[in-house]
Amino acid sequence: MINNIKGTKDIGFNETYIWQFVESFIHGYLKKHGYSEVRTPTFENTDLFYRSIGENTDIVSKEMYTWKDQGNNMLTLRPELTASIVRYYIQNKLNKTHPIHRFYYIGPLYRRERPQKGRFRQFHQFGVEVFGSKHPEQDAEVIALSYNFYKLLHIKNIVLKINSIGSKDSRLNYISSLKKYLEKYKNELSDLSRKRLNTNPLRILDTKIDFEINIIKKAPKIIDYLSNDDKEYFNKTLEFLDAMNISYEIDPYLVRGLDYYSQTVFEIQCDSLGSQNALCGGGRYDYLVEELGGKETPAIGFAAGIERLLLSLDIKKIVPELSIDIYMITIGELAIKKSFTLLDYLRNTMNLTVINDTLRRTLKSQIKDANKMNAKHVIILGEEELNKNHIIVKNMETGHQDIVNFTDIQNYFK
Ligand code: AMP
Repeated sequence: MINNIKGTKDIGFNETYIWQFVESFIHGYLKKHGYSEVRTPTFENTDLFYRSIGENTDIVSKEMYTWKDQGNNMLTLRPELTASIVRYYIQNKLNKTHPIHRFYYIGPLYRRERPQKGRFRQFHQFGVEVFGSKHPEQDAEVIALSYNFYKLLHIKNIVLKINSIGSKDSRLNYISSLKKYLEKYKNELSDLSRKRLNTNPLRILDTKIDFEINIIKKAPKIIDYLSNDDKEYFNKTLEFLDAMNISYEIDPYLVRGLDYYSQTVFEIQCDSLGSQNALCGGGRYDYLVEELGGKETPAIGFAAGIERLLLSLDIKKIVPELSIDIYMITIGELAIKKSFTLLDYLRNTMNLTVINDTLRRTLKSQIKDANKMNAKHVIILGEEELNKNHIIVKNMETGHQDIVNFTDIQNYFK
């Protein structure tokens, strides 16, 4: 027996309707805001991720699925989608076609993390990327877009955390002060954090270890290192969020794990999710397009996990239950023959969802099956009905039965 790979999941036949509901909600919601979908390949040249996400991040240093193909190309299954969308934007010189582009994506991603609740090795995200605007109203738009998405789906206990990590210079100044401060506690830090002290000290701020959290509490805050311009930008963003009645918490230690962010960073957390509580994260990345070979272009986006969204969604309340309009019961071969035209008519002219039995079960067990499948009506077609040119229609909710002539079927189901 060969099983699926650890950290991956089948989305079974009795779950796909939930995914389809959420996916079509995402498409509808984002289109309404003027965003267009982009679909990029699931694998890319490894260099793309090295250069965008950063060599010293967890993703690049230990989580990527990378291999050399038969042509000696180093390839990687995408661990996130911003880099691919930026590549697409640059490769197609989209900066020349319009001053602003609002894109969204939805699809699977791959990271070799330790699997646990809400954390998989193949998981799905949807997200947006906006290229061209350097103004805080763009930050506010993207943040509000993600926040309101969860509100519309009635996700409870969500908290929007927001911070500014300023421009490159402010960040460099901050990192050197943070390093100086953490050096004092070097012997108390975990092995991992000690290593990060040299490679990526900002990541230590994400620690989940209690004694490190205590050390972090007194660490310098990036907000104190922002330039006046950075501060003004951040304040304007917050003002716009206030104008939209979006509630947020400023978290001075929110920095996010990837190298490419600048200025605004944010995360939406759901308190009822346990340790993997981040539903969505994003921020501004004004340098990335240039770093990947394009023209200097301000940009901002977010990525949202779909598995975690499903974990926090009240599925029974929000996702309509699967049901079928009609279950067609046939008794005898002549009835089966007649049913083909009827099935075709009901499905393709009347646009109804109709299921029929092909197991030649008894009337009783077909009715039982119809109940199980949540059918609104059953049609009964046996020898007697055939002879009289009618069908019996039973309303499964009320139990009421009607006799309907073949010629009246259209009117009956209108
Ligand atoms: P990131 O790209 O790391 O900023 O993650 C954005 C969002 O994707 C997170 O807030 C999660 O909802 C989701 N996510 C990230 N990694 C995983 C994973 N391994 N399994 C499931 N969801 C994930």
